[in-house]
Amino acid sequence: MHAEIISVGTELTTGAKLDTNSQWLSLELADIGIPVLAHVTIADDLDAMVAALHTSANRSEIVLVTGGLGPTLDDLTREALSKFANVELVLHEPSFEHVKSIFAKRHRPMPERNVLQAMFPLGSEPLPNPRGTAPGIWMKHTRKDGSETSVAAMPGVPSEMKQMFRQQVMPRLDGGGQVIRRARINLFGVGESQAEEILGDLTARGRDPDVGITVHEATITLRITAAAATADDCHRKIEKTRQAILNRMGTLVFGVEDEELEHALVRLLQLRRATLSTAESGTGGLLAHRLTGVNGFESCYMGGVVVPTNTAKRELVSVDPMLIRQYGPISQEVALAIAKGCRQRFGTNFSLAVSEWPAFDPDDPLAPVPASFVALAGPKGAKVEQVQHFGDPDIAKSRTAKVAMNMLRLHLIEG
Ligand code: ATP
Repeated sequence: MHAEIISVGTELTTGAKLDTNSQWLSLELADIGIPVLAHVTIADDLDAMVAALHTSANRSEIVLVTGGLGPTLDDLTREALSKFANVELVLHEPSFEHVKSIFAKRHRPMPERNVLQAMFPLGSEPLPNPRGTAPGIWMKHTRKDGSETSVAAMPGVPSEMKQMFRQQVMPRLDGGGQVIRRARINLFGVGESQAEEILGDLTARGRDPDVGITVHEATITLRITAAAATADDCHRKIEKTRQAILNRMGTLVFGVEDEELEHALVRLLQLRRATLSTAESGTGGLLAHRLTGVNGFESCYMGGVVVPTNTAKRELVSVDPMLIRQYGPISQEVALAIAKGCRQRFGTNFSLAVSEWPAFDPDDPLAPVPASFVALAGPKGAKVEQVQHFGDPDIAKSRTAKVAMNMLRLHLIEG
């Protein structure tokens, strides 16, 4: 079984907008083990759309369409689907009520054309759209050889499309004889190839359940996908693989599903009834931003300061200017002094510090790999780590903030 994705919109074919929907949908489909055969981008042109639908539906068992469901003249997806299926468009009363209620809520009269958004190809099923006016469309197409293709049309607006895909379309795709369930395990502290090496046979092609690796800003996510006759069977398979992964990866694993390092850290601090403060130079407040994004952070994160200048370091975390002059702002000594000063200032059990940032010339291949320092101060003393800024310079800040949080996470785990 495979899928293809048709993105509709002249703004996409002219290059005015980038088609991010196809990328997102492909990743989601890969997660549930459905490979994507083709991405098709098509202008707001009825004949071209109908032709694309025929080609895709005859080639793949799943066709996902995004865009062109709006009420304006150039929104042609609905009409293209009815021509493709050779059926009329008929009014779906509950959808019409939904469209009217959206306008009523906004205290605006409904333009006549919006009735179009409640018209559906005969025999199709409307997909509710709680975020917008345009419902989606779900229909089955019978091919010449008698086999079936599922076609789903969703809005172009990415947030509406994503919600509709996860809530309405994905459960319908699971039904093809087998149940598919997924789980994600997140780890930090090794590179992708090293992770692959440790996992060994667990990531082998064709293994059941399948284990895939993705990396986002130095966080590695292992995606387990299991297919079985029942959801319980899937969960049993996933659990066995999860245990095998935990045995091999140990404390590199910090969380599951959408959990980030900051969630793991806040949870550990709460468990230990310990408090934390931060002082950042190079990361400019990113640590504070991430930590304050976790529900319940107030019970353990007491505050943070940004100390990019010598004055800020002196005034806010009592770093001796002589020390900076002696060792330089990007040094172990200054990073440690910032962490200790911050801990004193906030009166917390722990404090994390990030040193100043090195000058960076990504276009000079001969320049040495720049580095900064992160330091941790705690009741038993302080320690420091160097963070090398190799790879994409855009992710250096995020990676450094993660290294700092991971340093404390491991310290708390190891007691
Ligand atoms: P609406 O009800 O808002 O009219 P629609 O289904 O008609 O929804 P479009 O009009 O095609 O959707 O697109 C709405 C907006 O969604 C576009 O202006 C664009 O910003 C965004 N969009 C559409 N298609 C894509 C895509 N493939 N990738 C990323 N963004 C997209």
